[in-house]
Amino acid sequence: MSSWAERAAATLLPLSRASSLGPALREWSYTGRFFDLEARDGICGLCGQQDLRYHFEIENSGTASSLLVGSECIKRFEITGVDEQGQRLDADATGKLVDRHRRGLVEDARKQRVMTALLKLGQEVDDFDAWDFIDFVDDKGAFTPNQVAMIFWRMGSAGVNYRPADWKVRMRRDSDWRQLRTMKPAAFKRVIAALTPAQRRRVAEIEANFSENGQRWR
Ligand SMILES: [Zn+2]
Repeated sequence: MSSWAERAAATLLPLSRASSLGPALREWSYTGRFFDLEARDGICGLCGQQDLRYHFEIENSGTASSLLVGSECIKRFEITGVDEQGQRLDADATGKLVDRHRRGLVEDARKQRVMTALLKLGQEVDDFDAWDFIDFVDDKGAFTPNQVAMIFWRMGSAGVNYRPADWKVRMRRDSDWRQLRTMKPAAFKRVIAALTPAQRRRVAEIEANFSENGQRWR
């Protein structure tokens, strides 16, 4: 048995009816409940993995026991569950459900960090209305390049911490590209830090096309 299977057997068997790991695992199911610990200090109740930020609950109805585990363990041990409509799922579908729940938690946490940073800036700076921007991003799902350049600059000046990768930049409309093309070099650099790898590749492609023709894009 691998070491994580040994550890899982040690925690799971006392809480199960079966006396070997395979049958014991089949008594357990994913409850669809999940938790953001807001820090990487969670431990997987099955394999003992540390530094988990998100916990997912599994339960054994036969012994009325439950455990908080990492999403990987639900997949690794092929624990099954039910979907939102109560339909029984197989291990593959349960794995996909857990992944979806995990992505939702990650996305919620990202939005929360953006909102917290905006509100902090609103507290630090008199003429910055955080709610204007919170409403905007709520509605549109992303900021314009000019908004991001301005917000990052103001956060830098006010000493508000932010993670550039948390900020989604809209690069869809001609006006978005025009903003990026015409902004000052320092602002451009700040916005580039917030772009996704795909958006950055697009910028590099455009720049390369221009320079092939002996021109500069910006
Ligand atoms: Zn685990």
